[in-house]
Amino acid sequence: MMRHKPAAVAAALAATIFWTVGTASAAPKSKPNQIKYEYVSPKDPAHQPIHDQMRQGRALEHLQELLSPLRLSYPLTLKVAGCDGAANAWYGDEVITVCYEMLADILKGAPPQDLPGGLSRADTVLGPILAVFLHETAHAVFNMLQIPVLGREEDAADQFAAYVMLRLSKDEARRTILGYAYHHAIQMPGPQVTVPIQSLSGEHSTPAQRAFNILCIAYGADKTLFADVVEKGFLPKDRAEVCAREYDDLNFAMTKLIKPHIDQRLAGKFHGTWARTVSARRANLARR
Ligand SMILES: [Zn+2]
Repeated sequence: MMRHKPAAVAAALAATIFWTVGTASAAPKSKPNQIKYEYVSPKDPAHQPIHDQMRQGRALEHLQELLSPLRLSYPLTLKVAGCDGAANAWYGDEVITVCYEMLADILKGAPPQDLPGGLSRADTVLGPILAVFLHETAHAVFNMLQIPVLGREEDAADQFAAYVMLRLSKDEARRTILGYAYHHAIQMPGPQVTVPIQSLSGEHSTPAQRAFNILCIAYGADKTLFADVVEKGFLPKDRAEVCAREYDDLNFAMTKLIKPHIDQRLAGKFHGTWARTVSARRANLARR
């Protein structure tokens, strides 16, 4: 989800001043390590364990480290907060807010035990949580860096998230992508669905489409690592045939538009950071 774009207006204004006056002083210089975070105390006592668990596990600190290579002109804050019952997440005014209600939904949707195919219960929690933060980060990046978006921004944000997840180590990429796809897949109860026509008019693609889309990008990126996704029929063969091209398009866009805003020296530490911080969290979740 995405709310108003005051920063876009400010940046456009800054650009205008720059061109008119001919001085760069109006626009702050972009730099890495611009991610801040905030654990807001939950309003609903039922969310206290989620707050405590995230805090103890330093979840936002790890996301901060993961996103530190992004070069931004302003700080971007990652926030978890109570939303009075709304299971939502959004970006606005240089703040990403993820509701405890949404995190509770993700936990509720996780299977009671590990799944066949090497997917753990923890993966079905960590994958969607990472995807939510990366999806909102995409909105922030598009907005703060004035990235042109062709097509629907919600789909582009999903693509951004998938792309970043695929930059993890192979094992982590597989676990987070499949965990995220599982989260959407459980919202489609069977091969036939009946939905109110209005649900097709939303700004987001449907859960089924979002699951197919991320599986397609993953399969397009690595046919071997995600071979079973097609073999087992999670991704239909007809779609699978075009996934390499879909991934190439995404790779081209990310390389052209986003890579210039990534601090390459910090990005080099990305895999190590992730592996170090997430294995502990996965072990922790597995015990529950
Ligand atoms: Zn969104």
